Amino acid sequence: MDKIEHIGIAVKNLEESNQLFTKLLGKGPYKIEEVASEGVRTSFFEVGGVKIELLEATSDDSPIAKFIEKKGEGVHHLAFAVENAKTSIETHKKNGFTMINQEPKEGADNKMIAFLHPKSTNGVLVELCQEKK
Ligand code: ZN
Repeated sequence: MDKIEHIGIAVKNLEESNQLFTKLLGKGPYKIEEVASEGVRTSFFEVGGVKIELLEATSDDSPIAKFIEKKGEGVHHLAFAVENAKTSIETHKKNGFTMINQEPKEGADNKMIAFLHPKSTNGVLVELCQEKK
């Protein structure tokens, strides 16, 4: 794992949260993007080389909708930059972690991603994040 690439935060209303985080961070999002396959709309802020990803559900069966229903708004996942998502998945499996995604899939912000199951990481949803080449 390299650095923390971004921190994902589940929000109910992306417009309201964009305003809130713009006020908090002193600058606006550099990108707003819908990821239809994930049922989310996202916005990205950048602070000192680390990104903050706000996630809003676009449908009731989106993972973000389910998360907010269970836990409310708040920190949803930590994403770590990896050189190669595919080999990183294999390494984590070998080391006894449970993967939600067995193969890298298309994520927001030009990334290939895969999630580790939070039951194998102390309740923290961990995302592996590879820059698409
Ligand atoms: Zn993410």
